[in-house]
Amino acid sequence: MEVRLKILYTSLCHTDVYFWEAKGQNPLFPRIYGHEAGGIVESVGEGVTDLEPGDHVLPIFTGECKECAHCKSEESNMCDLLRINTDRGVMLSDGKSRFSIKGQPIYHFLGTSTFSEYTVVHVGCVAKINPLAPLDKVCVISCGISTGLGAMVNVAKPPKGSTVAVFGLGAVGLSAAEGARIAGASRIIGVDLNPNRFQEAKKFGVTEFVNPKDHNKPVQEVIAEMTNGGVDRSVECTGNVDAMISAFECVHDGWGVAVLVGVPHKDAVFKTHPINLLNERTLKGTFFGNYKPRSDIPSVVEKYMNKELEVEKFITHQVPFSEINKAFDYMLKGEGLRCIIRMEE
Ligand SMILES: [Zn+2]
Ligand SMILES: [Zn+2]
Repeated sequence: MEVRLKILYTSLCHTDVYFWEAKGQNPLFPRIYGHEAGGIVESVGEGVTDLEPGDHVLPIFTGECKECAHCKSEESNMCDLLRINTDRGVMLSDGKSRFSIKGQPIYHFLGTSTFSEYTVVHVGCVAKINPLAPLDKVCVISCGISTGLGAMVNVAKPPKGSTVAVFGLGAVGLSAAEGARIAGASRIIGVDLNPNRFQEAKKFGVTEFVNPKDHNKPVQEVIAEMTNGGVDRSVECTGNVDAMISAFECVHDGWGVAVLVGVPHKDAVFKTHPINLLNERTLKGTFFGNYKPRSDIPSVVEKYMNKELEVEKFITHQVPFSEINKAFDYMLKGEGLRCIIRMEE
């Protein structure tokens, strides 16, 4: 059930940097990072029937076995067998790595390890896409873009003409804003502590900006005043628990829905008064935009192909693989959104 991929383009996502820094987790080294990518199937292993050499694919950091209760549920994408596992550095079938150096294993990362010219991935973590889609663009759909987009269009589901707030204007938050634009929201309020992000965010349909630092009251109160009682939908993409609470408390009573996307600190606790829920506000969370990797991601690529979804505006840098460290520099400095790394010079 394994597939060997020739990676053509990959990009750097914040999760790679987080695990590379190995802060607060069990370090597992040496390891090949990378999980946002596009490539071509080079060969397939025993048991693989729905992919063949030459297929254009996006490897995905979480999977879809198509057989477990989650995969059979229309509501879930949390596959029992292949859901994200940040600690596992080996393949499921035999508990071994497919990479080595001088006889010593090099571990996998998120089942993808795309900072490599070739990688081996479980078939359940491979989305087969339209071969006409340019891989140097659609590779960004394999992680961050789908996470934010899906949180908005699949989970928050803003009605046409609604007012939406997005907390955190990095790549994930801006893809949530892109989802709100596609859904026809009329006001998109961006919330971020970094005013430099506001200019960029206008390209993604963000119409108004709130910097919590500019106000001496909670940001949920500021937003409630701006919107006559609260927004219709909010999506939180920072992982900061105070931002999560604000994102929930800024939705309108009666119908407002808040969706949590950012990954919080392991000791964080979400506190709010239960009356906020009794007053008919809904709090939800989502993982990978509720998309099933194999069944749904090809259709996100089609949204790009039919010009509904714009991905070019997320791509701010490009480097050859030999200069991959520049991509880390851009991310650490907070410059740009996505840096595409091309495997061939
Ligand atoms: Zn990612
Ligand atoms: Zn499954």
